[in-house]
Amino acid sequence: MAHLVQQFLAETARRVPDRTALIAGDARRSFAELDRESDAVACALQSAGIGRGDRVAVMLENSIEYVAGLFATLKAGGVFVPVNPSIKSDKLTYLLADAGVRVLIAPAALARQVLPALEAVETPPAVLWVGAGLPAGAAGLLYADAVAGQRRQPTDPGLIDQDLAAIMYTSGTTGRPKGVMLTHANYVNTSWAISTYLENTPDDVVMCVLPLTFGYGLSQVMTGARVGFTVVLERSFAFPMETLKRMVQHRVTGLPGVPTVFSTLLGLDAAKTADLDSLRYLTNAAAPLPAAHLRRLRERFPQAHFHSMYGMTECCTRISTLSPAELDAKPASVGRAIPNCEAFVADEEGNRLPPGQVGELVVRGANVMRGYWNRPEETARRLRRGPQGETLLFTGDLFTQDAEGHLYFVSRKDDVFKCRGEKVSPKEVENALYELDGVLEACVIGVPDEADGLAVKAFLVPRDGAALSEAAIRQHCRGRLESHLVPKFIEFRDSLPKTDSGKIRRAELVGEMRASDGSICPLS
Ligand code: ATP
Ligand code: MG
Repeated sequence: MAHLVQQFLAETARRVPDRTALIAGDARRSFAELDRESDAVACALQSAGIGRGDRVAVMLENSIEYVAGLFATLKAGGVFVPVNPSIKSDKLTYLLADAGVRVLIAPAALARQVLPALEAVETPPAVLWVGAGLPAGAAGLLYADAVAGQRRQPTDPGLIDQDLAAIMYTSGTTGRPKGVMLTHANYVNTSWAISTYLENTPDDVVMCVLPLTFGYGLSQVMTGARVGFTVVLERSFAFPMETLKRMVQHRVTGLPGVPTVFSTLLGLDAAKTADLDSLRYLTNAAAPLPAAHLRRLRERFPQAHFHSMYGMTECCTRISTLSPAELDAKPASVGRAIPNCEAFVADEEGNRLPPGQVGELVVRGANVMRGYWNRPEETARRLRRGPQGETLLFTGDLFTQDAEGHLYFVSRKDDVFKCRGEKVSPKEVENALYELDGVLEACVIGVPDEADGLAVKAFLVPRDGAALSEAAIRQHCRGRLESHLVPKFIEFRDSLPKTDSGKIRRAELVGEMRASDGSICPLS
C-alpha cells in the first residue's frame, strides 16, 4: 500500500493506465498520461535543484497543469505550496519569501503580476511558465518544453511518510491565511478514510468546482488518484449553467460542495429539470449547510446519498462525516470522527465535557497537521499536549456531542456574541432565515446597539425576483426563534463577501460595521 501521495498516481497508472484521470474543458488525461507528464515536470524540477523538502509553489487555476505540478513536486521530493492565481504582486512577494519557494509554476498570462514579485524577493525562485511562449523579459523554462523534452524518470528523493507533502493555506475566513504543514502520512491516511466512507470506485466521475488551492478541492484529486476515478475540473462555479451542462454530459456521480455552491445550484431553474440521475452522492463541508437547503437538495436528488462533513485545513481537510443512513435521524449532525481520528468536546484545558454541553472541539489523530509554517506562537496556541503527552489540536470551533458521539457544530468560538446578556450563535438565526424561499444567502452578526449591547443584524441576498419585506422576515423569525435572536436590523445586498473557497466572510461584514459604527467588542 502506498505510503507517499505520488505512489497513488504511479499505482493507479499501472492498474488502469487508460482510464480518464482528468477532464478540464476540452482537455483530458488518462492516468498513464498524467503519470508521464508529472514525471517529466519532476525531472525539470530536479534539474532546477529541487530535492527533499524544497518548496515548489503552483500558482494556477484548476487545470491539468496544476495537478501535474502537484504530483511532479512530490515526485521530485519537494513540498507543494498552492497559490491562488488572483494573488496581488505584493502578497506574492511575501509568500515567496515566507515559504522560501525555490521554483514557481505560474501562467505566462499573469507575467505582469509575477515579474514584479520576483524582483522584490531577495532570492527569487526559478519559474516554470505555463503558456504558449516565455513572457517578454522573463527568464525560466516553458512547461510545454519540460513536458516535451524529458523522457526520464525522476531520481528517487528517498522520502518517508513523515516528510512534508504540502503547505496548504487556510481559507482566510477570520484573518490572514495561515500555512498548514501537512505530511505524506496525513494525506495517505485521510484520502483512504474519505474514499472509504464515500465508497468511491473507479466508475465515479467527480465534479470539482472547488478551487484546488483549498484542501477540500485538493482532496478530490488525491482520492481520485488513489481510487482511479475521473475528476472533472472547473475553473470555478462562476458560470453554473456551463457547469451544469458538463455535469450532464460527463454523467457526474459525485458533487462536493460548500453551502454557496448548493444555494447557487438550488437557485438555477435549469437544475430543476436537467438529467442528473447519474448523481450518486453530494457532500457538504467548510460551512454549515442550512437545514432548508439540505431538505431541498434531498427532494431534488432523491437517488443521491448526502454526506454532511466537517473539517479544517489543519486536519488535512477532514475530521468527521455523517453516514447517509443516519441523516434522517440526525439531520443537524456532521457525524462522527473519521477512522484514525478522535474528536471530543472539551473545556479550555482540554478536559472532556459530558454529552450535550457546548465546548471547543479537540482533535487527535493521523490527520492532524505538523504545525503552522513559520508561526510558532500560533502553532503553540492550537497544538497542545494532552494528559498522556499526546498532541491535541484545538479547533477554535464550538460543538456539542450526543451520547453516541455524533457531533453538532454550534459556531466558531469567535462568532458567538451576546445580545441582552444572552448568547447568540449566528448559525441558529441564519438557519431560520434560510427557511424563507426568497433567501439565497444570509449572514448574521452582532452590531453595537445602545439598548442590546450587541444587536442581531442580518445581511440577506434575495433570490432573483423574490419579494421579501422586513416585516415578513421578522414575523417568520418570531415564530421560530427566541425573541433576542430575531434580527433587529436587516440589510439587503446583491452579494456577500466570500473567500476563494466560497465561504461568506462574516469577519469582513463585522469589520465594515465597526468602521461605520465605532468599535465592536466581541463579548464573551
Ligand atoms: P481561517 O482559518 O484562515 O480563518 P477557515 O477556518 O475558514 O479560515 P478552513 O480550514 O478552510 O479555513 O476552514 C475550516 C473551518 O470551516 C472550521 O474551523 C469550521 O469553522 C468551518 N467548517 C468546516 N466544515 C464545517 C461544517 N460542516 N459546518 C460548519 N462549519 C464548518
Ligand atoms: Mg480556521
